[in-house]
Amino acid sequence: MSLTGLIPPDVSLNAAIAICAIAFVSGTARGFSGFGSALIFMPLASSMAAPQLVAAVLLIIDFIAGLVARGFAYASGGDVYYRVRNYPDYGKLSKRDIDDLSSGARVDQSELKDDPLDFALWKAAKPGEPSWDSPWGPGRPGWHIECSAMALKELGEQIDVHGGGADLIFPHHSNEIAQTEAFTGKPPFAKIWMHNALLQLGEEKMSKSLGNLVFVHDLLEAHDARAVRLAVVGHHYRDSWEWTDGLMPAATERLGRWADAGSGDGALDEVRLALDDDLDTPAAAAAIDAAAAAGHGVASAAALLGVILYD
Ligand SMILES: [Zn+2]
Repeated sequence: MSLTGLIPPDVSLNAAIAICAIAFVSGTARGFSGFGSALIFMPLASSMAAPQLVAAVLLIIDFIAGLVARGFAYASGGDVYYRVRNYPDYGKLSKRDIDDLSSGARVDQSELKDDPLDFALWKAAKPGEPSWDSPWGPGRPGWHIECSAMALKELGEQIDVHGGGADLIFPHHSNEIAQTEAFTGKPPFAKIWMHNALLQLGEEKMSKSLGNLVFVHDLLEAHDARAVRLAVVGHHYRDSWEWTDGLMPAATERLGRWADAGSGDGALDEVRLALDDDLDTPAAAAAIDAAAAAGHGVASAAALLGVILYD
């Protein structure tokens, strides 16, 4: 749930898709109204909270102290580390075995750790770095603990649906689970995990580091916002797909067919069933296509996909 802290005002389509998937299901898309470009995904349910990392540091310190007290974390040289081998289910989300992980190349070696798999909950400040006082000296939170601490405060010990990009399954979400379940003693942290696959641009993953992002605000200058939304929901959130030049013309044409079909309740039941089936938006859109082709109005069903055909 780092979205609120990590997405800059220029929202990339990948980030917006993550927002879209979360907003659809949980109705608790939080703080996203600040991301002006993402408003094409309106109507979103209003957010109940928009937690910020800098306001949560005391919570985070309390959380880490709790993990130390419960024997799941240890202080070392001004850092605090999570002791992965004390948490038997570590890695279950990514279906990885703890011993396979420890032989993996990405494990960060540090002399301060008892085990290479252990991950930082708190990092001692290096000279010149911003820092906060803590029981372990001045420092800053590790990369994973903020989500556990803020989710606990805002949502409670267990949550229904947790979203995010598939690239966060390991280590970020795996560490979130380990932190929260060790702290609360109440598995599961999240009943359902919804991971959206990453969007490709041509052959490559769309990413900030590659500089090949498609920005929502650029698309909105050239296209109806509802067509942009249709271009996204025409793909299942768990499937990786490519952004291509043909997508927007096809989505615009689809929007026109739906609007021409008129108001009415065509495909409403089919769309509800499809969305209940792991948010199968392509099946929902196909059902609307079929109803429109058969001469039924589809405005109610389109609204369930967030596409408002008529004011
Ligand atoms: Zn997170």
